Amino acid sequence: MDVTKIFGTNVFNDEVMKKRLPRETYKLLKETIDKEIPLAGEVADVVASVMKDWAIEKGATHYTHWFQPLTGSTAEKHDSFISPTAQGGVVMEFSGKQLNKGEPDASSLPSGGLRATFEARGYTAWDCTSPAFLKEDAAGDVTLCIPTAFCSYTSEALDKKTPLLRSMSAVSQQSLRVLRALGNKTVRKVTANIGAEQEYFLVDKKFFEKRLDLIVAGRTIFGAPAPKGQEMEDHYFGQIKDRIADFMKDLDKELWKLGVAATTKHNEVAPSQFEMAPIFTSANIAADHNQLVMEILQKVAIRRNLVCLLHEKPYAGVNGSGKHTNWSLSTDDGTNLLEPGSTPHANAQFLLFICALITCVDRHADIIRRSAANSGNDHRLGGNEAPPAIISIFMGEELTEILETIAKGKKAKSKASTTLEVGVDTLPHLPKDNADRNRTSPFAFTGNKFEFRMVPSSASISRPCIVLNTVVAEALDEIATRLEKAKDIHKETASIIRDTMREHGRIIFNGNNYSDEWEKEAKKRGLPIIRNTVEALKTFPGKKSVGLFQKYKVLSKGEVRARYEIYLGQYSKQINIEANAALDMVKSLYIPAVITFTNELAETIEKLEAVKGDAAVQRKILSKVSALIKSAYRNVEKLEDELEKAHRISDAFKRATAFRDKVFNVMNALRKDIDALETIVPRKLWPVPTYADLLFKL
Ligand code: ADP
Ligand code: MG
Repeated sequence: MDVTKIFGTNVFNDEVMKKRLPRETYKLLKETIDKEIPLAGEVADVVASVMKDWAIEKGATHYTHWFQPLTGSTAEKHDSFISPTAQGGVVMEFSGKQLNKGEPDASSLPSGGLRATFEARGYTAWDCTSPAFLKEDAAGDVTLCIPTAFCSYTSEALDKKTPLLRSMSAVSQQSLRVLRALGNKTVRKVTANIGAEQEYFLVDKKFFEKRLDLIVAGRTIFGAPAPKGQEMEDHYFGQIKDRIADFMKDLDKELWKLGVAATTKHNEVAPSQFEMAPIFTSANIAADHNQLVMEILQKVAIRRNLVCLLHEKPYAGVNGSGKHTNWSLSTDDGTNLLEPGSTPHANAQFLLFICALITCVDRHADIIRRSAANSGNDHRLGGNEAPPAIISIFMGEELTEILETIAKGKKAKSKASTTLEVGVDTLPHLPKDNADRNRTSPFAFTGNKFEFRMVPSSASISRPCIVLNTVVAEALDEIATRLEKAKDIHKETASIIRDTMREHGRIIFNGNNYSDEWEKEAKKRGLPIIRNTVEALKTFPGKKSVGLFQKYKVLSKGEVRARYEIYLGQYSKQINIEANAALDMVKSLYIPAVITFTNELAETIEKLEAVKGDAAVQRKILSKVSALIKSAYRNVEKLEDELEKAHRISDAFKRATAFRDKVFNVMNALRKDIDALETIVPRKLWPVPTYADLLFKL
């Protein structure tokens, strides 16, 4: 496989545009992309026509405005290029208008009340900063996909892309102010970059199909532990089996065709768990790419009679999946603003950007925590496998020491004992965080980027990225204002560092985030501990959060409110689906199996006792099983009752709270009974594949 020949073949990328577009059109389009201005109609017509020809040459018959509604996945409605001729034939057409704007009747997508049913129309608008691409399906159909933003008739965002683009623009503007204040006159744009490491599980399709819980809820709601878990530590980075290697090869190939620079692949900690990571790119493209990664993972798996599970916690008792989201800022001249660098000028700049991060993560720990909240992640966070439900920053000893020393007004000393004064000397070489140093931190500085490790595996990375960009923009805004007013930039830089450490230094924690002591310490420091999604969402429509998003024009008050309603609704719906699946499985599979077994036991006991045999063991088993099935049935009735009560609550927050505190808890009690039964009932009678089947038979 010649990767250089495959890479990006299905992307209408810069190379294709340069080659195919008239020179003037190419120049105008590039300008549009760089300056984020609307594309003029005539230019759009030319681009559309060239894009269509390219797509048709590659077999496309249809195009779609590809967008990311608030469901968390992607949406597409395919339209063909055909246009009838007077002679009764067709020609293939695609205009600039069709490229620029779409009007899908998207009334069934979540709007959180932003769109009344009578004005169901949503609008999609081409996002020319993310390249169009071709999707091929198993039947060989090829569709031209145009990444678009999705909004309502009244221009309110109904998607994840619009606020992401707005937040990128906010963080760019505020970064530029800081850079200008530091004397940089040449940088024109700052880009937020993301590298998202995607964790996932694979399971054999034949087992998956027998598990209603996996099919509808993405996770096992029942299942006694297998005799083996992950305790042997033999899966992480272990040799990749042929069947999986074959899958990964296909995955890479499909992703490369789409221009996704998939680079890393390995076995993860839990059995049957894996990870892939692409090379980082601009946040907007990274978010689009991650959606494609999740889609292609599932597609390629099915081709191999495998199913890819993206849920945060498919199995109890072994690690779940996350999506480490690496974030940084870079300038249009290629400088990473989080690179410590080796020149005094860059040091002041670096330290100021670090201060912005410390400030915003402390100030908005609750909002950052919320950006990683979903019902799946509630099973993970704080479970000694993922960061705790407390946000803190890992800075590393050396950088922390430098910041603390400057904050005390002293001259900082590097390990090589050269003194360090902001803006005068150079920073010592900072060691990069490696896996051994601190894998427990939710938000770690890793040498030249921050790694946000809380992000849920199944979710779009847009949400955490929107939040990061916005909170950083606010902190940079304040820093820029101080610098702009300052007479002596170096003195002001030192005083910004001092103030940051004094007011927000509490957010830095370099120790073990999994330890109990940390929770106590975090409480002492007054850091918020937010244990679940419902609690996290509570403050979303509050003044602090609305004010922040409004100020930087990322989300309006109405858009925040809509998202709040949608996310709460999604939480309740997910738990509702899980509860329905639980009831279905218990009533139609587990209880009948247990009844068969108790029948067999009763008959055996009767027969044995008729011949004066000893049925003591059989009686003991029968009584155990009977007690468990009785308890299970009680919990079934309780679950039905709690579900009904939850459905009767109309307030979204109260309903979600009932799903969390009532429905979810009864489901857990029911699981205990069923899992205990699984260890007693004969394997041949157990109606679903076990954890050993699901986890160890790939
Ligand atoms: P590790 O495995 O130690 O977490 P890697 O260097 O393998 O670190 O990076 C993991 C992810 O971070 C990859 O997707 C990588 O492209 C991305 N990444 C690297 N540098 C940056 C950066 N400056 N900004 C954003 N993401 C980055
Ligand atoms: Mg990592």
